[in-house]
Amino acid sequence: MLSAPPRTKWVYRFREGSAAMRDLLGGKGAGLAEMASLGLPVPPGFTITTEACRGYIAAGGLLPEGLWEQVLAALEETGRTLGRRYGDAHAPLLVSVRSGARISMPGMMDTVLNLGLNEEVVAAIARQAGDTRFALDAYRRLIQMFGSTVRGIPDALFDRELARARGRARVRADAELTAPQLDAVVRRFLRIYHEHAHEYFPRDPMTQLRAAIEAVFRSWNGDRAIAYRKLEHIPDDLGTAVNVQAMVFGNLGESSGTGVVFTRDPGSGASGLYGDYLPAAQGEDVVAGIRATRPIADLERELPAVYSELQSHAAMLEKHYRDMQDLEFTIEGGRLWMLQTRTGKRTGEAAVRIAVEMAGEGLISRQEAVLRVEPHQLEQLLHPRLDPGAGAQPLTSGVPAAPGAATGVAVFDPDTAAAWGAQGKAVILVRVVTSPDDVHGMAAAKGILTATGGTLSHAAVVARGMGLPCVVGAGEMEVDEPRHKLTAGGVTIHAGEQLTIDGSTGAVYAGAVPMVPAAASPILRTLLEWADSFRRLGVRANADYPRDAEVALANGAEGIGLCRTEHMFMEADRLPVVQAMIMARSTAERERQLARLLPMQRGDFRGVLEAMAGKPVIIRLIDPPLHEFLPDHDSLLEQVVTLRTSGNHPRKLARLERVLHRVQELRESNPMMGLRGCRLSILFPEIVRMQVRAILEAACELRKASVDARPEIMVPLVGTEAELLAVKADLEPVARAVMREQGVQVEYRLGTMIEVPRAVLVAGAIAPHVSFFSFGTNDLTQMTFGYSRDDAEGKFIGQYVERGILPRNPFETLDPAVVQLMEMAVTAGRRAQPRLEVGVCGEHGGDPDSVVACHHLGLDYVSCSPYRIPVARLAAAHAALRE
Ligand code: PEP
Ligand code: MG
Repeated sequence: MLSAPPRTKWVYRFREGSAAMRDLLGGKGAGLAEMASLGLPVPPGFTITTEACRGYIAAGGLLPEGLWEQVLAALEETGRTLGRRYGDAHAPLLVSVRSGARISMPGMMDTVLNLGLNEEVVAAIARQAGDTRFALDAYRRLIQMFGSTVRGIPDALFDRELARARGRARVRADAELTAPQLDAVVRRFLRIYHEHAHEYFPRDPMTQLRAAIEAVFRSWNGDRAIAYRKLEHIPDDLGTAVNVQAMVFGNLGESSGTGVVFTRDPGSGASGLYGDYLPAAQGEDVVAGIRATRPIADLERELPAVYSELQSHAAMLEKHYRDMQDLEFTIEGGRLWMLQTRTGKRTGEAAVRIAVEMAGEGLISRQEAVLRVEPHQLEQLLHPRLDPGAGAQPLTSGVPAAPGAATGVAVFDPDTAAAWGAQGKAVILVRVVTSPDDVHGMAAAKGILTATGGTLSHAAVVARGMGLPCVVGAGEMEVDEPRHKLTAGGVTIHAGEQLTIDGSTGAVYAGAVPMVPAAASPILRTLLEWADSFRRLGVRANADYPRDAEVALANGAEGIGLCRTEHMFMEADRLPVVQAMIMARSTAERERQLARLLPMQRGDFRGVLEAMAGKPVIIRLIDPPLHEFLPDHDSLLEQVVTLRTSGNHPRKLARLERVLHRVQELRESNPMMGLRGCRLSILFPEIVRMQVRAILEAACELRKASVDARPEIMVPLVGTEAELLAVKADLEPVARAVMREQGVQVEYRLGTMIEVPRAVLVAGAIAPHVSFFSFGTNDLTQMTFGYSRDDAEGKFIGQYVERGILPRNPFETLDPAVVQLMEMAVTAGRRAQPRLEVGVCGEHGGDPDSVVACHHLGLDYVSCSPYRIPVARLAAAHAALRE
């Protein structure tokens, strides 16, 4: 006979686990285990593995074999350490059940406290604690938490009942309700439970425990958890662990309490304990943001010994984990218990400061410091801030909970915020308080404002995680959610009206307050210098104007990877000349208009080349189809028809008819695939001849003034070798002529964009004719997928990503197939021309994951918007360090 298969271990006592077992025990379980083995005061308990959760889900909601027996054994042992027993009427043990996935998910938060209570046990606890009120308070909490978490009964039903009880008793806080009043609340809660769950509240402690464990398992596939995972790119198949732990009571009188602290400020990164606590409170009261919390510094006055013990545990844990920790604790009758340690979420600003300071303290290396900051976190640091010169007067203020300023229209419910956000509107989500059900609206907002809550309320924690500016606890502001309005400082703001918040100061303003761009702080500059010392990939900027070039330089750009010359054509003073040039009936007339444009373009190029002196500047020849510079076809048609019908203004009509005629001639059914890029240069060579002349004249002038101008000319949208050769043959004589005229030699380089799949396939033939390739990954993505980028993002990519048809938006993050094409072009190009320089200038150049892909392709540089340069520098360093 075969021997019985080895029994799976589903349950680990805290002392059996460690920080290294995160995958199996989840973050919370691993942290509890680690604290227990460090000898910190952790209430005894055990963790049910993530594997058990996966098994439960796979079996369609059946506990894996052997699990329940292992739970009972561990439960027995937990009680024994304390001289108690779960379900016992004389020395009862109460437990909490909490979820805890490998990656912390504040959107899930399924917790049930005080399990094990029924009327008998309540009486026993009341007797032992000498406090009936306390025992009843614990019981009413259990009924509500069990009701809402396990049976899905809306919390509001219980909250309303509690509010009524306070009203009848004429008290403001739940803590002021007397034992008989709480007894009545318990009876009403039991009725609510019965009515909505269609069963009596389970008096049997074992039934309670089993149901709570199963509810946590099920919550892994709850809507909130799924939405959160999607947002954070967390895999769906990890499962959550369940922590079962002996209860300690923060609501046992005044020398009790509960709180959350960070070992450093998660907003700014400043060292020192940071957080809040609530005296005489239990569990979720702090995080829920419904009662006003007290700053942790108050604890030092109230219970100095507890405070200093907490401080020493915090210091020990930070040193042990070598990172900032987020701690939960409870004080029961003057005794401190540690309930959680995990790496704390932080803003970008705090991440940078903590990393640099920890490296300074010798806690981590510079490499680790660089790896500690996620590149995308830098984006929030470079968010604009309010213009101090604007002198705006705030309406009201609250607690600054996540830095940065944001302007948007006020929205008072998460669904509208999500809908308006999806339409591209800047939205500020305003709530009395937020909950996990609001997360989809928060993600779509530019900023969050709440009337209640402290720095550790749900709104604050989630906003910091998302990098959104956030103000909480603006208590003087009245938020009327049902009527979609807020009132503060005598002003009412309705949904759809503009509002500005400053998450760095807590100020709230009506309307839009002017902003100024953020500058990199000295501490960020230090981190980026360390990053530069590790990265191999160069970082350049996409910049069209001298002012963009200045920002790019300040952010560390090593050159310009793309200057889109057509943007200059759109400026108000040139557009009429550009339009006259396009309307020209003859080449001679077109050249006359181009001669007018020449000095303007020369001035533009001079500015950019001068700002970037000593560094390469890639100037791309005109790319978009000409009709883009003419008025819109439909509105022209409308005007012409109106004028024709009225018979007025015949001269204006004739002019508009001419324009309309030309627009119709140039109109294409698919302009993105029409007469643009080098095709335009071949059909209208006068335009690019003018551009090349302007570039070289500017460079020669600068050289004469001893400025080291380094122009590089780039041909867009090449698909065949012959196209490139045609443009090259046209331009080189112009360049030579200018240098002859000016009597200066300027070394300029010629390159091409690789953005049409065919160019990839003939890269080996193209490469010998150029000095560089630059991947236009926007077009390359568009043409590889056959998606029109103007339509795809608005129409279907969102759905595709939501339904898992695409893992990511390929216009944001390089698609693997596009990367494969790039690899082909790099290999063939370098084989044909070993000194070929290769970079990227599509929008992907500022996306961290795409930067990593470019590093692995061995590219020379990425080029991105000036504001994303720090992101790219850091991402490039990560790629090199992780190699
Ligand atoms: C590209 O296609 O990636 C590119 C940089 O050019 P544009 O976006 O101007 O077409
Ligand atoms: Mg392009």
